[in-house]
Amino acid sequence: MMQAINFPLFASKFAKHFTNNSDNIMLLNVVIDSRKIQSGNNTLFVALDGSRYAGWEFASDAYDKGVRNFILPANCPTSLIKSLEDSNVLLSTSPLKDLQQLAQLNRENFKGPVIGITGSNGKTIVKEWLAQILSAKYNLWKNPKSYNSQIGVALSALGISQQHQVAILEAGISAPDEMAALTQIIQPQLGIFTNIGSAHDEHFEDTRAKIEEKCKLFQSAKYLIYRKDQTQVGQYLEENFDPSVLISWSDKAGADYILSVKRHNNGSKIYLIGKDFQTYTFLTSFRDQASLENIRHVITAALSLGMKPEIIQQGLKLLHAVDMRLTLKSGSKGCKLIDDSYNNDLAGLELALEFMSQQITASGRKILILSEMQQEGKEEVVFQKIAWLLKHYSIDLFVGVGKGFADFKHLFPAESDFYESTDMILRNLEALSLSNDLVLIKGARAYGFERVVQKLEALAHETILEINLNSLRHNFIHYRQKIKPGTKIMVMVKAFAYGGGAAEIANYLQEIGADYLSVAYTDEGVFLRNNGITLPIMVMNPGSYHLELLQEHALEPVVYNLNQLKSLSNAMDSNSGLLSVHLELDTGMRRLGMSDQELDEAISILQQCSNLKVAGIFTHLAGADEAVHKDFTLSQISSFESSSNRIIQETGCKPIRHCLNSAGIIRYPEFAFDMVRLGIGLYGIEVNQLEQDKLQPAMTLKTVVSQVRTLQKGETIGYGRKGEMKNDGEVATLAIGYADGYDRRFSNGKATVLIKGQMAPIIGNVCMDMCMADVTGLNVFEGDEAILFGARPSIMDLAAKIETIPYELLTGIGPRVKRQYILD
Ligand SMILES: *Cc1c(COP(=O)(O)O)cnc(C)c1O
Repeated sequence: MMQAINFPLFASKFAKHFTNNSDNIMLLNVVIDSRKIQSGNNTLFVALDGSRYAGWEFASDAYDKGVRNFILPANCPTSLIKSLEDSNVLLSTSPLKDLQQLAQLNRENFKGPVIGITGSNGKTIVKEWLAQILSAKYNLWKNPKSYNSQIGVALSALGISQQHQVAILEAGISAPDEMAALTQIIQPQLGIFTNIGSAHDEHFEDTRAKIEEKCKLFQSAKYLIYRKDQTQVGQYLEENFDPSVLISWSDKAGADYILSVKRHNNGSKIYLIGKDFQTYTFLTSFRDQASLENIRHVITAALSLGMKPEIIQQGLKLLHAVDMRLTLKSGSKGCKLIDDSYNNDLAGLELALEFMSQQITASGRKILILSEMQQEGKEEVVFQKIAWLLKHYSIDLFVGVGKGFADFKHLFPAESDFYESTDMILRNLEALSLSNDLVLIKGARAYGFERVVQKLEALAHETILEINLNSLRHNFIHYRQKIKPGTKIMVMVKAFAYGGGAAEIANYLQEIGADYLSVAYTDEGVFLRNNGITLPIMVMNPGSYHLELLQEHALEPVVYNLNQLKSLSNAMDSNSGLLSVHLELDTGMRRLGMSDQELDEAISILQQCSNLKVAGIFTHLAGADEAVHKDFTLSQISSFESSSNRIIQETGCKPIRHCLNSAGIIRYPEFAFDMVRLGIGLYGIEVNQLEQDKLQPAMTLKTVVSQVRTLQKGETIGYGRKGEMKNDGEVATLAIGYADGYDRRFSNGKATVLIKGQMAPIIGNVCMDMCMADVTGLNVFEGDEAILFGARPSIMDLAAKIETIPYELLTGIGPRVKRQYILD
């Protein structure tokens, strides 16, 4: 809820085109998604366009829910405007700008300090951690999760209300000129520049240009915190900002705060020497570079805001290496868990419930285990809102944890469970009788809900294939931008979605607007249907057709030769239904598909069989990923075009035509026809290596260090004693082997793994369930995380090392590896 804004007054300020037909003029809520409207009173609906729809299409829905205040694009249909009787409507040339201006107004009405954070890495973490530390003293507001874009920052700033004392807003930009709008909104008094990295480099001339753009956020800041030994940032700031504004920290002398680090076995000590030569010590459980940098930003900011070191230390104790992202994992007894045990506020709860509502793959109840919300206070409205959310998102069972619920139980459904503490619920988990349920676990940090998650998790070893859904969406959008609007996208989710997990990935694709799915075999299609997937599904190699199975599950088989077509048309003669099929033409791949010689007869069969519907015609390119095959590819495409034209003309069918795989979309987007078939690119692998830098790696394979031992020069390691210590050093045993899909050819230094930001070579032979890495001098401990592939090392490089392709590595990942889906 924001601070009240008078809508007509706002409109008149900018001399906008405004009709005033309702007295409901004071705005307290702004929504851009009509599904999220709780009550129409004092609510403004702003129509922002999405990639597949116009925002105004949802104005009527908002109206039906009681909304009487609208910002609509000037070019929306007049019939719509007429239908919004007794409403206040502002017609705008840019609803986004208006949304931003409203946000700016709400920000300017706020009198407390606003902290603005930007940088390439770490801004969300610094924001979240700083919020935790400051919440010991202040009632504060921050962007939910990483709502840091042009729309996200505006919505975040609109959340600042009367009762808040401090606001923390992070700003993210991906291209030049984006910061100006965000600066207008945030207008921070205290700025934090976290770090400059290589993200979005392609859009900027050089690092300095990127620093310059980010620093626009701090134009009018009174104080600006930065790390002095990050030289490029330090230099830029020192040249361009008044020295009285700058607050620097560093490991070394010469900065305002000297914060040096000593690491020990299970954490680190941070020593602070202040300007007054006072020294303080802070303890943390973190040991990695990035976290230690983020923590030092947080300490400097909290000190600058006048917090006592002792209070900061109290807060640091509660910061754990808990993932702040939503994670979907498998639980015991067939349950699925959504782990959001890092923090708890209303905005975050809504995001988590939204994510929960998109999961259709669980068959049981929807259960929410929620702690009290310390940041939101104990006012009745907070509990009312939670109760409303339960209803809105059809939660079957609510479990409240914390004493604060006691006075408000009457607001919740009668069958709800309440526990005073985390210990109490841990003792009573059995009472929930979980089985095949979908459970969202969301708690404030202090409640330690990770213990609840641990107890509910399926017991499995710690090797995880992590699928980042944000990256998946990023890659999907990248490929969509390559082709003409209106061209459909079929995503290939064969082979367990390239190892990533067919049901979850298909479900997410359904959310983000894929048009079609494709699998290799019929049972894969049946599996998707059984998991609630409703998109059309093409089956590439249905073998001998199980007609009933195909029809029952609305699967569309590929017909790739005459015999099949004949038997299918015979079978359909005695079948009353209709079957959609895709014809595959072989134009040079020589795998499956009809040859030119078969076309005449195929056409005459199709002409006679009226209950076979040709939903699609396609071919597959044999060499779309290499420039040398260009002529061959073009001849494949032209032969596809002429053959498919013939079929269309002679049978009168209206098929979707498609021929491009991921590589083809990049090289030959002009030949997309009606649809493309996206596969490996979705996971961030650009096999042409032309646009790799525009994609994000979506799959990360990781495990843990089971043991570290110190060995002497000359000692040998593993089977066949193939590994040998060249010097004294340390070797770590990792909980992954070739049975998990970590190829045995990675043995003896062929591959390296990433541990604590450093590369460690595999030493000795990879075993079935384990392998060893040389971690000499890397300060590695039992329990540390090791990344087999991800952003680094890339799966492309890894595949090249053993002369295979990323496809093989991905699809080879074993069933024992847990798949986890995250959304930042
Ligand atoms: C697997 C497959 C694709 C997708 O290929 P990528 O290289 O992963 O994009 C497209 N079409 C057909 C027929 C396929 O078998």
